[in-house]
Formats: sequence, C-alpha cells, structure tokens
Amino acid sequence: MPPKTRERYTRQIKLPQIGLSGQEKLAGKRVLIAGIGGLGSLSSMYLAAAGVGHLIIADHDQVELSNLNRQILHSEANLGDPKVTSASQRLGQLNSTIQITPVQVRIDHGSIDGLLEGVDLIVDGCDNYPTRRIINRAALRHNLPWIFGGVRGFDGMISSFVPGSSVCFECIIQNPDPLEPEAIKPGTSPPNNGILGATAGMIASIQAMEALKLLLTIGSPLTNRLIRISGLTMRITTTTLTPNLECKGCAPSSKDKDI
Ligand SMILES: [Zn+2]
Repeated sequence: MPPKTRERYTRQIKLPQIGLSGQEKLAGKRVLIAGIGGLGSLSSMYLAAAGVGHLIIADHDQVELSNLNRQILHSEANLGDPKVTSASQRLGQLNSTIQITPVQVRIDHGSIDGLLEGVDLIVDGCDNYPTRRIINRAALRHNLPWIFGGVRGFDGMISSFVPGSSVCFECIIQNPDPLEPEAIKPGTSPPNNGILGATAGMIASIQAMEALKLLLTIGSPLTNRLIRISGLTMRITTTTLTPNLECKGCAPSSKDKDI
C-alpha cells in the first residue's frame, strides 16, 4: 500500500477489525448508491471517505433549491444540474483515489441489472416503495446484500437484507406490521412529506456503517431486524423480522412468479 494511501486511512487501519487487509479489501469493492438524495448524499460520502474502491451513483433527477436542506452533496452552484453530476464532483473532491461512475438514469426494471454489473452491495437511497421492490428483486436475482433506509419527518428506519440469510424487503411489506402502512404501502402518498436533513443523515450514517460491515464481513449485520428511530424523542425500537413463507420475492414457491 502506498504511503499516502496508508496515511489517508490510518485511523481506520488502526482498527483491528479492519487493518491493512481490510483496507485493501474495501479498495476492491464496488457499491451501487441507488439514488443520491438525502440518504444517498451522506452514505456515499462515508463510503467514499472510507475508501470503497468504486461507487456507482444512479439517479435521474436534477438539483432543486428545496433539496438543499438535506441533500448535502449538492450546493447552490449545482441548481438545475443532474444530481449525479454534482454528486460525482463532490465525491471526487473528497477522495480522488477511488472510482466514481455517475449514471443519470431512472432505476426501473430496464436499468437495474445493468447498474449491478460487478457490484458487491447496494445502498438504498430512493424514496418510494416501487423502486425498492425493484431493488429487492434484483438483489435476490444477483444474490446481493442491500441496505434499506426510510425517512420521514423526524423518523427513520433501517434494515439490511442479505439473500439466503435474512428476510427480504417484501417479506415485511406484504405484512403491514411492523412497518407503517402509510409510509410504505404502494400507491399511497404520505400525508406530509416534510423532513429534517438530520433525519436523513442519521439513517444514512447507519446505512454506511452496515455497508462497510458487510463489505468487510465484520460485526453483526442488521439482518432480520428493523430499527426505527424517532428523532423527536430519541426512542429507538428494534423489531425482529421473520420470513414470510408466502413472500412473492424470496419464498421458494415464488421463483416463477412475475416480477
Ligand atoms: Zn421475502
């Protein structure tokens, strides 16, 4: 490892769970940031700073003034620009030694498989149920872990889905409990889509932590558990998730069903 690289990452190389070998491992990893809004802005910065070798950032949107309270990768100078452009510039300034691939595309059935070429893990940065369902099915097809994060107002929730060793996203959304139906149910829009930037930040930070743990195979991943955090009260609850044997996404009997 070149001296400059060792110096850049010295504070995490000192961690026995990472060390030089872990740092080299991260350099060889490729992660898809699926959406570069409030969640993707912060998770991508931590992954870039940590030295994940290749970040693919996908988003179809442009930067708007009302994004700036939470989407901290973008700035006033980027208004009207594609989010992936401003994001890749900012991430490149943070760490010029990693590869960043901006892809301006809507994540849908047609684009997702191309985005996952060579990818090791997906970080959820999107804001709606249908796109997460597409990500879930693709993660199952490609046998890839993905880190779910959802935010609204002062509240957030997070879980990690690892095909073969955990429930999947659809196992829990087919059953309204434990997720709030109005926050997650397809075809419904939340009554109030207000959000504090720090809400997205706290969930995105946990997503980055989970992503790094899974990439390094350290610690205990947040699988089969859903954490919900209320920012207003700082009440944190953990719900144990159990597989849905009728799940249209991951149950063995569902293999031939439509996506
Ligand atoms: Zn499932």
